[in-house]
Amino acid sequence: MTGRPLITKAKNTWCPGCGNFTIQHTLKNVLAEMEQEGQSLDKVVLVSGIGCHAKIADYLNINSFYSIHGRTIPVATGIKLANPGLTVICCAGDGDCYAEGLDHLLFAAKRNIDITVIVHDNRVYGLTTGQYTPTSPRGFKGKSTPLGTEETPLNPIELMLAGGATYVARGYSKKMDLLRAQIRESIAHKGFAFIDVLQICATFFPAADYYSPRVYEMTGHDRTNFEAACAKAREWDYTSDAPIALGTFYQKASPVFGEGKMAAWKPGAVERERAVQDLLRKRT
Ligand code: SF4
Repeated sequence: MTGRPLITKAKNTWCPGCGNFTIQHTLKNVLAEMEQEGQSLDKVVLVSGIGCHAKIADYLNINSFYSIHGRTIPVATGIKLANPGLTVICCAGDGDCYAEGLDHLLFAAKRNIDITVIVHDNRVYGLTTGQYTPTSPRGFKGKSTPLGTEETPLNPIELMLAGGATYVARGYSKKMDLLRAQIRESIAHKGFAFIDVLQICATFFPAADYYSPRVYEMTGHDRTNFEAACAKAREWDYTSDAPIALGTFYQKASPVFGEGKMAAWKPGAVERERAVQDLLRKRT
């Protein structure tokens, strides 16, 4: 399957100007590079959830699993544990994995399962035509909040740092080169890699005029310094006029879920372990 077209013939129904196009093309370019470098794309699996972002599974010509709302991460976790030789990439939405799927996201970070999670964070439920999500700004007026939401948005970067994620980054759908580097890094990272992508929803949350003057790429930031990462994560709270840091906040090496005793598990292994423990107890 080398050299195959990476974009399918499925009709693309994203709105003109949607930031999902950038994420799709950036991911496609990364996959093409991986293939050119000799990596088989047959060993890559893309998992998506439910929402506008999820159509990426229809549009990219690789193995994919179009899962259900909020469940991208358990599906990806199962795939990775069943076949550790696969590169597993999750594309999820903010409504998808910061709401219904939040527990899965947190526990995947805590476990340090070796998957990459790219969140298309457009801060609105686009597919259902404009309801507020966990990252919508306070005061956001949508179908379900005509007077404006009174909730404070989540800060996913802070959340993932607290949850134990070992690679934490923020991208922007108008910064393709940076996003390409982040996706490459996150796939190469051994452990749970998370990228929150500020994705423009051209129809229900066209925020480019807000983001573009405020974003900057971090330079001189020590990504191995957890305290510095937390401070950077709190610089912008998803609501204020503060500058918005883009780049990798944090990265560290840590034991990966499924590569300890579980990796050696075979049918009967638990019984054998119990028999050994019984024997040792009897001897003492
Ligand atoms: Fe993109 Fe928003 Fe249109 Fe969905 S509704 S396809 S997120 S622009």
